[in-house]
Amino acid sequence: MITCSNCETPQFLQITQSRVYFEDGEMINEISESYECTLCGSTGQYVYDEDRDEETITGEVERTKERPKFA
Ligand SMILES: [Zn+2]
Repeated sequence: MITCSNCETPQFLQITQSRVYFEDGEMINEISESYECTLCGSTGQYVYDEDRDEETITGEVERTKERPKFA
């Protein structure tokens, strides 16, 4: 779950750009998503690298495994 670190809710997050990178036409090796919060205007990016099983979050969004507080 990606949430806005300002509002602490995913409720107003909008994906503005989404990309999936393929390797050899089959394996997904990277997922890239850009987010914008329509409430406070925060933006951030989430990148998942499957090869390294690594998640990278930049900007004013955060990844949480908890259930959203206000959803
Ligand atoms: Zn926000």
